[in-house]
Amino acid sequence: MIQFFKDFLHQEVPKAGKEIPLYYKRALTISEFMLMAYLVVCFFAFPLFHAGWHRAPLFCAIFCGAALWLTGHAGIRANMLAFFLLCVGWVWWNVYGFGWSSGTQHLLTLMLVLVFFNVYEKPWVKIGWFAGVLAFRVGLFAWSQSNPGVYELNAGAGTAYQSINTVGFFLILAVLCVIFSNGVQDTERQLRLRNQALYKEAGTDALTGLPNRRDMIETIDRFRQEHPGQIFSVAIADIDFFKKVNDTYGHNCGDYTLVKLTELFVKHAAGRYRVCRWGGEEFCFFIPGRNLDEAGTLMNDLCFAVERMKLEYEGKPFAITITIGVEECDFASPLEALLDAADAKLYIGKESGRNKVIV
Ligand code: GH3
Ligand code: MG
Ligand code: MG
Repeated sequence: MIQFFKDFLHQEVPKAGKEIPLYYKRALTISEFMLMAYLVVCFFAFPLFHAGWHRAPLFCAIFCGAALWLTGHAGIRANMLAFFLLCVGWVWWNVYGFGWSSGTQHLLTLMLVLVFFNVYEKPWVKIGWFAGVLAFRVGLFAWSQSNPGVYELNAGAGTAYQSINTVGFFLILAVLCVIFSNGVQDTERQLRLRNQALYKEAGTDALTGLPNRRDMIETIDRFRQEHPGQIFSVAIADIDFFKKVNDTYGHNCGDYTLVKLTELFVKHAAGRYRVCRWGGEEFCFFIPGRNLDEAGTLMNDLCFAVERMKLEYEGKPFAITITIGVEECDFASPLEALLDAADAKLYIGKESGRNKVIV
């Protein structure tokens, strides 16, 4: 039983990724701090209103300080409970002392804001809190009808006290709403940015920084959806005898070659086509707006450029060549068939001597 109560007060601390948002703690702390300041003002204001010195606001301010201390030391629910006890106590004391017109009952609205913005609280618990607050308010109102305030406040003091209450609570409410709305917006924005970054990362090849196969397929699919009926070609390139580069100069030299080749591809593309790392030492090109002949000419030019590229690793110069297979879209075949056709042409190019483009 005691354990159940303890667990309830601590509110299941959400597991990884579901931590209580920082802004909730901030909201709770700031509202408690503001409430404490308001209570101190009340303590000194009562004698000015000719209502005499009262211990209630001072006691509540001390209790508020204790609740503030709890923020860092106890569960979120324990803190909320302390805050709620304080609100309920203060509202009751005011209605008992000054009648319903003192305006302190607005403090109960603050409690509802705190309850409903507690993002990890279960809905039934929130509804429970809400029902409790509502029942207290209705009950207190009914009770206040037959029990006028026991302390006298003259008309001017009554208005001034009501003003302090209204301004005080609305200020706290405004601060709470600003913190919550900013906090939620901020969290959402960070999540969106993180998602974008992760998505980009998932579609990028780590070594070359080029888009990977998945990203390329998405790009081509998107193009086909957005520009139905527009011609495009695809090409697949494979480095000739790349294994020899690795075997002769080492794996790092192989990586270096892939990076250098990527730089050349990106420079040569100049917005005319998109290139991705298809896998291993293979690259895929998406050439929008060009038929087989035009794409073939472009790829031939690229093939020459690779042949002319001067590479040097640890002082040793070497060169590479690539073989490319090109295929044009026929508006009927699925993308997979198109890529298979380009791959088959690449194979023909390898079989017939390499360092060439097959259209
Ligand atoms: P071919 O002309 O028939 O394509 O000959 P090849 O040697 O290029 O073909 P093969 O498929 O036998 O060898 C490909 C090599 O590419 C083997 C593999 O180690 C190397 N390779 C694939 N990915 C990487 C990489 O990321 N870094 C390095 N350094 N080598 C890689
Ligand atoms: Mg290969
Ligand atoms: Mg190869």
